[in-house]
Amino acid sequence: MKTTVIIGGGASGMMAAMTAARESDNHILLLERQARVGRKLLSSGNGRCNLSNLYADRTSYHGADTDFVLPALKRFGVGETLDFFRGLGLITVTEPDGRVYPLSNHANSVVDVLRFGLQRDNIELHTENGAVYSRRNGSRFLVGTTEGGHIHADYVIVACGGAAAPKLGGVMDGYRLLEEMGHSRTKLNPSLVQVKTDPTYPRALKGVKADAVVAVFAGPSILAAKRGEVLFTEYGVSGPAVFDISRAISTGGDGLSVHLDLLADLTEDEVMTFLVRRREIAPHLPANQMLTGALHNRLGQMVCKYGRITSSQRIGQLSNDELRAVAGAAKEFVLEVEGVAGFDSAQVTAGGINTDEFNPDTLESRLIPGLFACGEVLDIDGDCGGFNLQWAWSSGHLAGRLGK
Ligand SMILES: Cc1cc2nc3c(=O)[nH]c(=O)nc-3n(C[C@H](O)[C@H](O)[C@H](O)COP(=O)(O)OP(=O)(O)OC[C@H]3O[C@@H](n4cnc5c(N)ncnc54)[C@H](O)[C@@H]3O)c2cc1C
Repeated sequence: MKTTVIIGGGASGMMAAMTAARESDNHILLLERQARVGRKLLSSGNGRCNLSNLYADRTSYHGADTDFVLPALKRFGVGETLDFFRGLGLITVTEPDGRVYPLSNHANSVVDVLRFGLQRDNIELHTENGAVYSRRNGSRFLVGTTEGGHIHADYVIVACGGAAAPKLGGVMDGYRLLEEMGHSRTKLNPSLVQVKTDPTYPRALKGVKADAVVAVFAGPSILAAKRGEVLFTEYGVSGPAVFDISRAISTGGDGLSVHLDLLADLTEDEVMTFLVRRREIAPHLPANQMLTGALHNRLGQMVCKYGRITSSQRIGQLSNDELRAVAGAAKEFVLEVEGVAGFDSAQVTAGGINTDEFNPDTLESRLIPGLFACGEVLDIDGDCGGFNLQWAWSSGHLAGRLGK
């Protein structure tokens, strides 16, 4: 009988436990410092749990070496993940953009089937019992727990997650445990997080949503761009498209700006044609109504203001240059970036334990045989849309094979 200690009962740790438990001579101790397993999962996807994405591939991931994800995705990709969950009794639905959710629309369903899956003779689940240290002890490991226990193990899998969302259990433990065993990590930055900008325009638009192309610029250079939903907030912008470019902001230094193309399906000339036509058919309307019908009313008025058009003017009084300014504002609404909202509001950690210290084919440490790591603690983070959980399942499965 071989003993495996898995530190962390989140997405990747539970997957690792179930995978390792397929070998009946493996005895698994799953340590979870919180009162329940899967705490973060329960809050994922706005409580719906976006557990995967049909389009997950290397391009959905970030880190110093994104090729690192390939063996895990190849061995246990989206298809295998969906089969696995089907086997546990979970029915899923896939949205047109590839996002996979439980049919119930409740994250509880995902956590519940995982909890049922953990109920096996060779898995011992210890909740409210965290690992405080893990070290080599001869040819085995010694893991100390918050309950004062000292567990001897043949294998250790670190699945502690990252630093994001401390209220849901995000901690530095995984990094510390691995660093104490000789591993190193990159700088950590919050990702999939709201962006703080000059609040002048966003504050007045609080609660308004728009479909836009969002691009991050450092001077004239574009760092990232994404099309999708943007939500204006008191302090800046949020929403799925903003989450996806937040990594570039979080890691991109100072002097950044966010450029919104609010009429992405039209060229600037087409917007101009639309505005000229509007001037012909509705010259009597207040000038700040020029984009009514094309954009959310409040947003349209704000774009006019940004283009220096005042509500005291009438559309018919506007010159072509003034119309051109509004068309330009709709195509390039620029907000100066002040930063990102921080780990408290982030969904994921960009950065982590250096992946070159782990074998991508097994997720075993290159420094300490028998030590494995999976999930967010490694220097891999995904885009918004189910990619982070897919990495947790894929890497948890690979680590749980214990090198086989
Ligand atoms: C609000 C929110 C919404 C999200 N929504 C989505 C989504 O819809 N789709 C998606 O793909 N991703 C989503 N994510 C990201 C996703 O949840 C994580 O990337 C994923 O859970 C990481 O899995 P993990 O196993 O590495 O870590 P976690 O799931 O965080 O699990 C780590 C576990 O380890 C435990 N632990 C830590 N230290 C110790 C210790 N010393 N001893 C014992 N236990 C310890 C923690 O308590 C935790 O339970 C979301 C994240 C947040 C915060």
